Amino acid sequence: MERTLCIIKPDAVKKKVQGKILQMILDAGFEIKGIKYITLTKSQAQKFYEIHRGKPFYEDLVEYMTSGPCIPVALEKENAVNDYRALIGSTDPAEAAEGTVRKLFAESKSYNAVHGSDSVENGINEVNFFFAEYELI
Ligand code: ADP
Ligand code: MG
Repeated sequence: MERTLCIIKPDAVKKKVQGKILQMILDAGFEIKGIKYITLTKSQAQKFYEIHRGKPFYEDLVEYMTSGPCIPVALEKENAVNDYRALIGSTDPAEAAEGTVRKLFAESKSYNAVHGSDSVENGINEVNFFFAEYELI
């Protein structure tokens, strides 16, 4: 079994499409191991996106991710990392496949509705970033 981290980002929560996104995740066979509503602090968002520090979009990304509540969701499934990335589609919704979460709900490459871990190692680390072991079923 693999773990991966989804975050339903502030733009999707503002649009009230979190229920639809969670249903797509459940229909695709993922188990929700943990879920919470939080508003990220600036330092949490900076740390979570540390890998992108220095890139032209970094400051805007931190501002966006702290702009309202988001929903981190710890997911588990066989091949969770790749299957979840396939479900959400490309970073830029203009390039995302039909029927993917980002094609359906993302506004733009910046405001793209959901986060997804990009490797098995990051899946574990990112779940642990948001969830203590006792918060995971
Ligand atoms: P992904 O979320 O698909 O793994 P990245 O890890 O490359 O994409 O980027 C993290 C997040 O930063 C993206 O989801 C998006 O919100 C934002 N982002 C990435 N690239 C750009 C860009 N070129 N312009 C604006 N925002 C971007
Ligand atoms: Mg990424």
